[in-house]
Amino acid sequence: MILVDRNGVVASDTMIGEIEQLTYLAAAVLIAHTDEGRRCAVCSGKAFPCLAAELARQAVALRR
Ligand SMILES: [Zn+2]
Repeated sequence: MILVDRNGVVASDTMIGEIEQLTYLAAAVLIAHTDEGRRCAVCSGKAFPCLAAELARQAVALRR
């Protein structure tokens, strides 16, 4: 759980684990939502990167 108080974001005991789970999910999204001729392989007809791929890319960047 990610907590926010008057001092800002507070790391809970599970925060690191939740970020890690988020990055695993994001990595799975990035594997599926690939560039197929400038179109997303999953989101039929949508330009690549689709919203899911873009959000997943940002989530993966949290781990760095
Ligand atoms: Zn997509």
